[in-house]
Amino acid sequence: MPHSVSRRTFVQSLAAGVCSLPLFPRHLQGEAAALDELSFIVISDTHLGYGDSHGAAHQWTKTADEITRAPGDVVLHLGDVVDGGREAQYPVYLETRKRIGKTVHEIPGNHDEPAAFEKHLRRPIDTAIEHKWLRFLLLGNARRDSHDGFLTGEQLDWLADQLGQTERKGQYAMLCMHVPAHDNKHPDVGWHIKPEHGQTKLDELLKRRGERVLALLHGHFHAGLRGWDDRKTIHEIVFPSALYNKDRGLTRQKAPGYNLSEFRPGYTLAAIKKGMLTLRYKPVGIDTAAEKVCRLT
Ligand SMILES: [Zn+2]
Repeated sequence: MPHSVSRRTFVQSLAAGVCSLPLFPRHLQGEAAALDELSFIVISDTHLGYGDSHGAAHQWTKTADEITRAPGDVVLHLGDVVDGGREAQYPVYLETRKRIGKTVHEIPGNHDEPAAFEKHLRRPIDTAIEHKWLRFLLLGNARRDSHDGFLTGEQLDWLADQLGQTERKGQYAMLCMHVPAHDNKHPDVGWHIKPEHGQTKLDELLKRRGERVLALLHGHFHAGLRGWDDRKTIHEIVFPSALYNKDRGLTRQKAPGYNLSEFRPGYTLAAIKKGMLTLRYKPVGIDTAAEKVCRLT
């Protein structure tokens, strides 16, 4: 089976029994160096300046020191770098970030003023990052005046173009946006990209060109590690806050999807190996980790 065979075709051919069963999908086998095992680290919601105290900056330093020693050389920060738009906190954040010794890529959350984010962290906000065979598509979908997510027509066009490039280069993609696209109702908080704000168009785009999209990665919820896998093969994952998380009793109340029973401040070690994405949610200062394994086919 050629490398260019799409995941959907691959899965269909498996279902039809037309090819012998490999242990994991051909596109993730180690035949090309570019499809080797891959790892990265995810942090989110550091909220520097929270409560006008040094607590968040102190917690960020502890987190950064652990990440420095953790495996993996790419770190994603999924938004709310500072709390309440406090611009003076970006230099504090950056000073600590220097110690990590790994590349850190941020997206803004609803607490980050876009202009301040661009001034201190990166311009433009919407950016593609290549990490071996994986392309992270970083999108700013949060607004200061809302908890919901928003994708403009321009952003969706950019995304369509990026997915085309992903396909032409034989890569796979993960979309990084602070606010989830997935519907969520009570007992969840209900914050997501509403149909009229880009959700419907994103769904259409993913149906049309999402065969190489492995996951959508988000922050925003402060609910530990939470996610859904009902979008066929595309995982939607909400990552824990590095400052505070809350147990909203989602598992007990049978909310759709999953929510690990770990809520201490932490970060997540992500590793792709043999067609599986393993997420290890590591509370800072604690030796154990909570684990979630996502099958990528
Ligand atoms: Zn937040």
